[in-house]
Amino acid sequence: MTKNRGIEIKMNVRLVRAFIMFVACISTSFLFSNGTAEKLPAAEDGVINLSSYDFDNQDPLRLDGMWDFRWNDLLEPGDSRWESRQNDQNFYPVPLFWTSYGDKLYSSEGQGTYRLLIETCGQCRYYGISLPEIFSEYKLWINDELIDARWAEDGEPVLFLKPTTFFIYSESNTLELVLQVRNRSHSNAGIGQSIMIGSEQNTYRSHICNISLDVILIAICMFAGMYHTIIFIFRKEEKELLYFGLFCFILALRTFSTGSTLFMLAFPGMSFIVGARIATIFIPLAVITFLVFSFYFFREYSPRKIFLVLLGLNSLYLILVLATDPMIYSTVYSYYLLIILATCVFIIGVDIYAIKKKKKFSLIFFLGFLILFAGIGNDMMHYLQIVITGYYLSAFFAGFILLESLILSIKFSHEHQMVSELSERLDKAVNTANLDPLTGIYNRRFLNLAGTRELELSRRYRHNFSLVMMDIDNFKPINDQYGHDTGDRVIIKLAALLSSHTRGADIPIRFGGDEFVLLLPHTSTEEALLVAEKVRASVEKTAIPVNEKDVIHFTVSMGVAGSGNEDESLDDIMKKADEMLYKSKNDGRNTIH
Ligand code: GH3
Ligand code: MG
Repeated sequence: MTKNRGIEIKMNVRLVRAFIMFVACISTSFLFSNGTAEKLPAAEDGVINLSSYDFDNQDPLRLDGMWDFRWNDLLEPGDSRWESRQNDQNFYPVPLFWTSYGDKLYSSEGQGTYRLLIETCGQCRYYGISLPEIFSEYKLWINDELIDARWAEDGEPVLFLKPTTFFIYSESNTLELVLQVRNRSHSNAGIGQSIMIGSEQNTYRSHICNISLDVILIAICMFAGMYHTIIFIFRKEEKELLYFGLFCFILALRTFSTGSTLFMLAFPGMSFIVGARIATIFIPLAVITFLVFSFYFFREYSPRKIFLVLLGLNSLYLILVLATDPMIYSTVYSYYLLIILATCVFIIGVDIYAIKKKKKFSLIFFLGFLILFAGIGNDMMHYLQIVITGYYLSAFFAGFILLESLILSIKFSHEHQMVSELSERLDKAVNTANLDPLTGIYNRRFLNLAGTRELELSRRYRHNFSLVMMDIDNFKPINDQYGHDTGDRVIIKLAALLSSHTRGADIPIRFGGDEFVLLLPHTSTEEALLVAEKVRASVEKTAIPVNEKDVIHFTVSMGVAGSGNEDESLDDIMKKADEMLYKSKNDGRNTIH
């Protein structure tokens, strides 16, 4: 056990070290990819200058910066009003929901048009444009051409809007991008994430990369979900397995419904109301299953009342998503984030308490939870537009799943090791309990077990078994003359003779002292007498050298009894054999009765 504990501590230390390395690698690569890179072009006054941007060799670029934005006007390209600009106030940051624009406080229900002029080096070429998730209706023009529209006429349902990618051909050195947006049903109004531009090839590549990443994440989540659920089926008392499995499934579905484009590919005609509800419902569901999972994981450390309150609050939001319009539940969502935060704080608190109490795996769980918490924090801040990064919860979750799976694997391999050690010990204990330590043959305890069983079998299948009881003749003088060790050698020799002169099914037993028993299954008393005689004769012929000149010859007396009588117990049969042995002793020894 102490050895196990030592291995475990060493493994934990190694894990912590590996985790720190992992975080260090990620953060340095993040720093190098962002911090030290040269300054990327940004839009100013509705224009972004990409004339020196190498489309072929650089990754797709975010068209971030100050775009021309006309609130409450739906302008098309070429509209003369674009030129009638009053002042700088037409320029607003993209990406940012218009509800967050300065002190203007545009309401989420409303409409407006965005415009960006993209100056390129004028080379004729194909461009790729990636549109992010937009929660509103929109129409997109590029150079006077209507590229994409998700616009519902009155009475029509709005279709579900997900990120898309277009490829356009341009010969001119300016691309004009005009985006009309009308929002009627969600609190997120306008452009919340970056619109990207790149060469056709690079855009296509990153599009495929995003989809592949989603597929990989979904696969990891589904696999982990199935793995934990199946283990739960075999270990029903460990409820945390079930809730972790459910959590994984929910994360897989959430990735499917909010990731790149998979949901839209699968259900192109889905209405916005249904699609948005499905995508949102997985958030409270994920929080609830994770909360219940950690409650069971830290069962003895979780305060039940706080757990129930948090469970209730999360369920309340779940009901809200199911029962109200997207405009209502998406507006409440900002407040619901506080409940998510409280839930995270609760789980971390319980975990820290468990670490203090030295609960197994609570430290690894804590590391995993930090990864998850970083993902939740990023998604929350991105949602609130404090940082514009993107939604990465699923990616962080993949890290958490790996650690959680590690916990389970370590736990199970420990248990497996423990079980095999215990069963080995048990086997040994059972065997030694039935064996005579001096001779290695069975002992009297085993005679009771085997004899009782033999008696039952003989009654049931109507066959006989026999017992031969024997005792070394004049053994005390051997001990006295040559010493106890030599006496032992005689006893060992007799045990060996009994083993070698009987069949595999026969059981030689050291009854105690210099007394032995042969248990002969399926053997009549007549046959047993023949076996006894064989043994007796062989003992008689045996010589045990004690020193250079002396050898010991010894003999045994025997009594044979069989299981003929229905009413007799094992004790009765043994008693009978003992009486016969006594007779043999009285008849001058070295005989059989
Ligand atoms: P008998 O012919 O009447 O059987 O005479 P005996 O001298 O053999 O008398 P008995 O069977 O009563 O004596 C058994 C002796 O065996 C007594 C004890 O000192 C000795 N003995 C019992 N267990 C052991 C053992 O494990 N090793 C040795 N060396 N001697 C033992
Ligand atoms: Mg004796």
